[in-house]
Amino acid sequence: LTNELRALKNLPARTPDGKRLILMANTGLATDAIQAKEVGAEGAGLYRTEIPFILKERFPSEREQSRIYRQQLIAFAPQPVTMRTLDVGGDKPLNYFPIEEDNPFLGWRGIRISLDHPEIFLGQVRAMMSASEGLDNLKIMLPMIASMQEFDRAEQLIIRAHEEMLADGYDIKLPDIGVMIEVPAAVYLADRLAKRAAFLSVGSNDLIQYLLAVDRNNERVSNVYESYHPAVLNALQHVATAAAKEGKPVSLCGELASDPGAAVLLFAMGYRYLSLNSYALPRVKAVIRQLPFADMQEILALTADFDRASELRSFVASELIKRG
Ligand code: PEP
Ligand code: MG
Repeated sequence: LTNELRALKNLPARTPDGKRLILMANTGLATDAIQAKEVGAEGAGLYRTEIPFILKERFPSEREQSRIYRQQLIAFAPQPVTMRTLDVGGDKPLNYFPIEEDNPFLGWRGIRISLDHPEIFLGQVRAMMSASEGLDNLKIMLPMIASMQEFDRAEQLIIRAHEEMLADGYDIKLPDIGVMIEVPAAVYLADRLAKRAAFLSVGSNDLIQYLLAVDRNNERVSNVYESYHPAVLNALQHVATAAAKEGKPVSLCGELASDPGAAVLLFAMGYRYLSLNSYALPRVKAVIRQLPFADMQEILALTADFDRASELRSFVASELIKRG
């Protein structure tokens, strides 16, 4: 980091005309929380709980999980930590829980595994809640939701776990329950999900993969994986509008948030929270602090004229240089 970027640590991500964006960090390890605090992240917008699971040789016990989760919660308190329930399968294998499938990205992953194994899910959310006792900064986020039924079932299990914990004598409130928007079906359910969930958070890594039918890790088709594809931008705008209609917070926690040009478009679309890798946070903050919000809205409006992702991307980049 340059000294100039380092100096932004304690300054807000606010535009010259006074519009505020909240920049949070993506974490997984205990050390990620330290790095996040060093760049002035305002909480964790995505704590990937599969990371501690991947580091073990077997499923961590509820007690072990609770200890690990509490470290994250303490590191950020009183700022929020958004803990995503286990998102294994797809590109995130657990070697002590092998899954053999022809199409792992379309297979048993994320919330599907949790709902088929409620004992794993209940243990995990109990561990999160016990970890949060006395801190009150836990939010729970559900990955790979593709139907209202999945949301309902996951919510019921969390409520049940919470009731059991109260009966056991814990003093905790029911955490906010949010949903990741990363399956195209969830984009088209965004209005209904926004009614039911406490917040929405777009997982652009998977959403782009599924919208464009392109494996997020396949080099051969990486040219087709285009985050500035007009279909992607339309979907992102649709989600922001649906959340705003219900007055619910909407964030984006995929790699896209690390791209300053994309961050500007997202902010203009109505995203008021972005969660990104700590190393990318100061750069995004610098751009937000430089460009008036009115300019960001102008740039977003002009993107409607582009049919091609590559041209749209260079247009946004050149506008940032010209105006900032
Ligand atoms: C995403 O899909 O954008 C996301 C944030 O989650 P992950 O990369 O862990 O799948
Ligand atoms: Mg994902």
